[in-house]
Amino acid sequence: MMADSIQIAVLGAGPGGYAAAFYAADLGMQVALIDEEKNPGGVCLYRGCIPSKALLHVAKVIDEARHAGNWGVSFGEPSIDVNKLRSYKQGVVDKLTAGVGSVAKLRKVKFIQGRATLTGPNSLKVAGAGGETDLQFEHLILATGSSPTRIPSLSIESDRMMDSTSGLELPDVPKSLLVVGGGYIGLELGSVYATLGSKVSVVEMTPGLLPGADRDLVGVLEKRLKKLFAAIMLNTKVVKVVEEGKGIRVTFEGDVAEKEQTFDRVLVAVGRRPNSKIPGLEKTAVKVDAKGFIETDPQRRTAERTIFAIGDVAGEPMLAHKASHEARVAVEAIAGHKAVFEPQAIPAVVFTDPEIAWCGLTEAQAQAEGIEVEVAKFPWGALSRAITVDRPEGLTKLVLEPKTGRVLGVGIAGSGAGELIAEGALAIEMGATAEDMKLVIHPHPTLSESIMESAEVFFGQSTHVYKPKRK
Ligand code: NAD
Repeated sequence: MMADSIQIAVLGAGPGGYAAAFYAADLGMQVALIDEEKNPGGVCLYRGCIPSKALLHVAKVIDEARHAGNWGVSFGEPSIDVNKLRSYKQGVVDKLTAGVGSVAKLRKVKFIQGRATLTGPNSLKVAGAGGETDLQFEHLILATGSSPTRIPSLSIESDRMMDSTSGLELPDVPKSLLVVGGGYIGLELGSVYATLGSKVSVVEMTPGLLPGADRDLVGVLEKRLKKLFAAIMLNTKVVKVVEEGKGIRVTFEGDVAEKEQTFDRVLVAVGRRPNSKIPGLEKTAVKVDAKGFIETDPQRRTAERTIFAIGDVAGEPMLAHKASHEARVAVEAIAGHKAVFEPQAIPAVVFTDPEIAWCGLTEAQAQAEGIEVEVAKFPWGALSRAITVDRPEGLTKLVLEPKTGRVLGVGIAGSGAGELIAEGALAIEMGATAEDMKLVIHPHPTLSESIMESAEVFFGQSTHVYKPKRK
């Protein structure tokens, strides 16, 4: 049988892969998009960003309803129908994945469901339910994503042990839950379970939650998490887990008094590893580094000229929006444009409550790299909108070049920080200065004013914080 011949094949249909396929189709190329799922979406839509945000939204509503007692409005204890909650979450996933699937059709992207094996630098085959498809391509974009890291000592066969995928399936609301890993996933999913009624303990191996994030921002979140969680055990490792009766007995090592504790369920969220063990990859010149990431140049081209790699499989940070941006770079490179991947700011958002979000240079990074910076902070206790919604604990922080006031980094902790950070990313990418941020009229009363006022703090002129500039 003759193999189908196309210009671009994209392997993996997450936010990296489907963005690449769609953009290539928009540029007039013939495109095939391959994935094992029925529709495009990848981990983000099926088992990551999207279902977790649906659950976090419900958690926020529950939390606000509880909090409303302080404002003279009582709703009583919530009654939670886990089946209905699960189907709400599934409905969100189905709607979005089907939507992306129909957009693929409209763009005439050939979606092939199945498992691909590379057969050379210009060919692959896909084994699907309907048999095998052979495909010849001019270029291939690998966007195979990442999977949860497994730790051998925690890998016991038990329904009570969960990773982010099974955790998002919401099998039940356990009485007690241990979250291993105080990173993005641990804190987001831990918050969902705690709000639904589980007694959640978090164990983190390093001295602080969210190790890579700015400490001022993490401090704001940690204050609230200390109330939400039964325990946060820092500098602590899990050395052993055993299923015993109706629970998992966990042995800890580190700064924790009770070295053995039993939990109904354990959620392991200790990072993700790139999916670079692609069948047949050895038939190409593609190189994989020591951490398992596919090596690429700034255009995202691998050591094999016909093959590109984007998203989680091509390096940190493992974030959907980084993947979608790389998708554009790779497709433009294939189209012969001079595109390169050189962002000044990749926003990161932890969707807890409060959210924390940052982009560009952090204060700690500046210190580590010996970059002289000036930091301007605006506390949300002086922000009218934050007071009206009873969330004054937030903080907006600018990291600035002292002489010019150029914005190098932005950090925000507070309700809705994830929506606000895009202004920071735009400021950094456009080379904006604190003066620009100060002079842009921000609507009142909104949380976005905190960005303008933190720029005013830099000049010692914040309307709502009296902090004269030191001479
Ligand atoms: P992570 O890297 O954010 O956090 C893992 C945490 O586990 C770290 O704090 C680490 O110190 C800790 N850890 C590692 N081994 C441990 C051990 N044996 N015992 C105790 N703690 C241990 O990883 P994650 O939370 O699994 O998320 C994976 C990736 O997925 C993230 O890096 C991120 O790129 C992505 N993600 C992003 C979002 C978002 O953008 N909101 C949400 C979820 C996941």
